[in-house]
Amino acid sequence: MEDTILVINCGSSSLKVALFDLNLNQLTSALAERIGKEDAFASIPGYSRDIPLQHGAGHRDALQAIVSAFKELNLLSSPPVAIGHRVVHGGETFREAALINDSVRRAIEDCAGLAPLHNPVNLMGIEATTALFPEVPQVAVFDTAFHQTLPRHAYLYALPYRFYRDWGVRRYGFHGTSHNFMVTEAARLLGKQPNETSIISAHLGNGCSITAIRDGISVDTSMGLTPLEGLVMGTRSGDIDPGLFDFLKTKEISAEDLHRILNNESGLLGLSEKTNDMRALSELADQGHEPSLVAIEVFCFRLARYISAMMASLSELDALVFTGGIGENSTLVRAKTLSHLNLAGFAIETSLNHQHGKNTNGRIEREDSRFKVMVIPTNEERVIATEALEASGTIRQR
Ligand code: AMP
Repeated sequence: MEDTILVINCGSSSLKVALFDLNLNQLTSALAERIGKEDAFASIPGYSRDIPLQHGAGHRDALQAIVSAFKELNLLSSPPVAIGHRVVHGGETFREAALINDSVRRAIEDCAGLAPLHNPVNLMGIEATTALFPEVPQVAVFDTAFHQTLPRHAYLYALPYRFYRDWGVRRYGFHGTSHNFMVTEAARLLGKQPNETSIISAHLGNGCSITAIRDGISVDTSMGLTPLEGLVMGTRSGDIDPGLFDFLKTKEISAEDLHRILNNESGLLGLSEKTNDMRALSELADQGHEPSLVAIEVFCFRLARYISAMMASLSELDALVFTGGIGENSTLVRAKTLSHLNLAGFAIETSLNHQHGKNTNGRIEREDSRFKVMVIPTNEERVIATEALEASGTIRQR
C-alpha cells in the first residue's frame, strides 16, 4: 500500500484532483465539471467508466465520488499523508505555502476581497477535503506567494498612494507555482543552483503571464492586482488603456458588461471572432483566415514587448523559458515572438524549435544567439504536491 499526496485545484464549477506518490510521480488525476449543475460529471483519464455524479452535485459530492473511484483503482487505500490546495490569492499575508489551520483559513477569507471569484471556491475545496479526511494535514499553496519578493518599484501602480495603503491595491502577480518550477527546472538543466539562476519565464496557456526571476527570486511580473493585466490571453484582453472605461460609458456598456467582455470575450477569441484555442487558430491562419492571423500576431508582439520589458529587472539572463500549453507546443508563437527580438540578440534554431527542445535539454537557441532559449513543460500540480509535503512536515515526521 502506497503513501500518497492529494492535490486539489478547485474552481467555481470545476474540481481538478491529482494523486502523487512520495517520490512525486503522478499516479492519476481526475476532473469534475459543471459542478452544481444538472449535468455535473467527472472523469479519470484512462478509466473507462464514467464517475456517476448526482444532479446538482456540489464540490464535496464530486470529491467523494472521485476518491471512491481512486479507491476502486487501488490507488488510495488509506488516507493521503498530505493534501495540497491551490489557492489563488494570498495577498501580502502569504510569502510561502501555509499549513492550514483556523487562522490561515481566516486569512484566506480576508484575501477574498482581492479575488472574489477564486478564494471562496478554494475555501470550498478545503472544506470538502476536511470533511473527508479530517486528520490529514492540508497545505495552501498560493499563486501569488512567489511574487511577494517583487520590489516596490515593480509592484506599485502610479495611483493615489492611499489605494495601496488603505485597500492593498498593487500588483500581486499569479502563476507563481509555475514560474517557481521554471527556475528550478531551468537551473537543473543548466547545471546551476536556482538561487544563482536568472531567467525570463513565459507561461503561455489559456491564461498567460511572464516573470523576470533574478537569482531565483521574482522581481517583475506581467499580471497585476488581478490576472487580467499584461499579456494577451485566450479570452482576456491583458493591458488596455483605462481611458476605454470613459469611452464605453458613451456606448452604454455597464461595468458588469465590461468585466465580462475583458475577461471572457477578448484576447485571442475577441480578435479572431472564432476561438481562444491557439492550436485551432494556427490551423485557421494556415487556411488563410486573416482575423486568426491577426490575433496570433497581436499575441506574439505583446509578448515580445514584455520580454524586452522584463530585461529592465535583470543584470544577466541565463535563459528565456517558454512553458504552458502554447509555450510548450507552438513552434509558430515562439518563432514569431522572437522574430521581434533580433536587436536584443535572441535567435532560435528552426529545427530545434520544431522539436520543442525535446532532445536538447529544452534548448532551442541558435549557436550565435546572445541568450539561451528553452522550452520546459510545466507541472503545477507537482509543485503543489512538493510544497504540501514540505509544509505539512510529513517528511520530518516519517
Ligand atoms: P493550457 O491552459 O496550459 O492547457 O494551454 C491551453 C492552450 O495551449 C490552448 O490555447 C491550446 O490551443 C494551446 N495548445 C495546446 N497544444 C498546442 C499545440 N500543439 N499547438 C498550439 N497550441 C497548443
